[in-house]
Amino acid sequence: MTDTIFTKIINKEIPAEILYEDDIALAFSDINPQAPIHFLVIPKKPIVTINDIESEDKATVGHLYWVAAQIAKQKGFAQDGYRAVMNCNEDGGQTVYHIHLHVLAGKALGWPPYQERLK
Ligand code: AMP
Repeated sequence: MTDTIFTKIINKEIPAEILYEDDIALAFSDINPQAPIHFLVIPKKPIVTINDIESEDKATVGHLYWVAAQIAKQKGFAQDGYRAVMNCNEDGGQTVYHIHLHVLAGKALGWPPYQERLK
């Protein structure tokens, strides 16, 4: 079971505001933004969680950060700063089981980034 809604976005079966695409990664705006700028960078390979990253995926996961930085520079918020994070499994708040880098920007972000959540 590896197909999620992100597979449909990769395959262009459902629409998304695509910001960047190459053979390895896709970046698109988050449908429910949590900051003035909020987009996701995902691998085209459907890796389920951070825990499922295999040795052969290390360059792919590094590439996601490189893509995030390219978009940050292109959009002009690289110097002001941003947060690039992945959530893992239930306690991490993961809801889509295809790894994705959240890139949040456009305001000074608080730390720690979490709010308590009832299970
Ligand atoms: P997470 O909770 O870390 O798994 O993040 C999943 C993210 O995917 C959330 O921020 C959602 O708003 C976002 N999301 C879910 N469906 C879509 C979609 N169709 N297009 C863009 N973003 C989506």
